[in-house]
Amino acid sequence: MTDTATPTTLAADAVGRRLVTAVPGPRSVELQQRRAAVVSAGVSSALPVYIAKAHGALLEDVDGNRFLDLGAGIGVTTIGHTDDDVVAAARAQLGDVTHTLFTITPYEEYVRVAELLAAHTPGDFAKKTVLVNSGAEAVENGVKIARKATGRRGIAVLDHAYHGRTNLTMAMNFKAMPYGAGFGPFAGDVYRAPNSYPLLDGLSGEAAAARTIGYLEKTVGAADLACLVVEPIQGEGGFVVPAEGYLPALQEWCTANGVVFIADEIQSGMARTGRWFASEHFGLVPDLVLSAKGIAGGLPLAGVTGRAEIMDAAQPGGLGGTFGGNPVACAAAIAVFERIERDGLLGEADRIQSVLEPGLRALAARDPRVAEVRGRGAMLAIELRDPATGEPLPALVSAVVAHAAQQGVLLLSAGTSGNVLRFLPSLAITDAQLVDALGVLGEAFTANA
Ligand SMILES: *Cc1c(COP(=O)(O)O)cnc(C)c1O
Repeated sequence: MTDTATPTTLAADAVGRRLVTAVPGPRSVELQQRRAAVVSAGVSSALPVYIAKAHGALLEDVDGNRFLDLGAGIGVTTIGHTDDDVVAAARAQLGDVTHTLFTITPYEEYVRVAELLAAHTPGDFAKKTVLVNSGAEAVENGVKIARKATGRRGIAVLDHAYHGRTNLTMAMNFKAMPYGAGFGPFAGDVYRAPNSYPLLDGLSGEAAAARTIGYLEKTVGAADLACLVVEPIQGEGGFVVPAEGYLPALQEWCTANGVVFIADEIQSGMARTGRWFASEHFGLVPDLVLSAKGIAGGLPLAGVTGRAEIMDAAQPGGLGGTFGGNPVACAAAIAVFERIERDGLLGEADRIQSVLEPGLRALAARDPRVAEVRGRGAMLAIELRDPATGEPLPALVSAVVAHAAQQGVLLLSAGTSGNVLRFLPSLAITDAQLVDALGVLGEAFTANA
């Protein structure tokens, strides 16, 4: 099916979107019918076009339509779909050793990923890592480790947070529908505090932090808290960037009270924002950093990395799992780290911001329904609200996403009220592709005036 000599099967001259059938096309419609018979209705797809090939920032479906991808599988193929180095590394590893189980007989690639995470997460202290399969599993393990290290049970999270779909992480999410509704009972000892959301609360970082801390002190008390888990820039919540000084104040309070400060960088990490980890934008040095999504170029891998003395609190055998730190996923992750380092990909996130952000600001200037443009690097968003009432406009988001899809541009929504459009393209996206996507976005707003 694939030519093993070439890293990708997408045509070399494919540079932009191309529509050759209706969206979805006949082959996708047929697959959607097969799927409906055998795939749980609980698994939904934002756009039911079935993808056959991908490279860089392009997706090609089974009907031959090509989409410009502004979502990168929710920030997973951060360095690009089927990146040549990632594909080569994974292919080579597949033939050397596919699986042993690190907790039975270890292999070098796992150790190398741990070294790379120690080198690139914030902080100059000794760090250790455990590798797992998914973001939610990283959150679960971060909490486990923090509890063991502190001997405390409480978990603090913030409004508008998203941490996953497992039992513990469902309890840590802000939004019940669709992530939690009907799936209880939920894990206990989770305390949710107000976040900093400058567009909505108008608070300074200092005032928002005082509100968060005051809430936690009243409802649980620092002495019972094992950890505070924060996304430095909230992902599913709508790329909410906290006010200046908010996160450092929370970290200071955690440190003073023996609460483990955990940065969930699953969406914001791995070069997405123009830094290795978004924590760096805020001067944060988290005790534990969670990575997943972009770490392995599309292969399933996640990690908890942090202060050695906290990570070593877990007893031998207490951490691990059959597939955690799979050698092929680790080989892909090593290739991702090397590409970011060698090819200066942090600068590519800044380049994307320099093209995308002015385009979004121009849209906001002519359309008052764009209430805010925000984000960092290749993690940007616009929040849509009725300029008269301030009410969120989720229907406009849906209409814009649908319009763009019909034009061959894949956009993602976000936000607790579904009223945010988020842009998290791969760092391989070209300026011309971004300009093209911005054009389609503008047309979508005009068409839904
Ligand atoms: C996606 C995400 C998760 C969950 O990761 P999965 O791999 O889907 O389990 C957790 N936290 C954040 C911030 C995320 O964006």
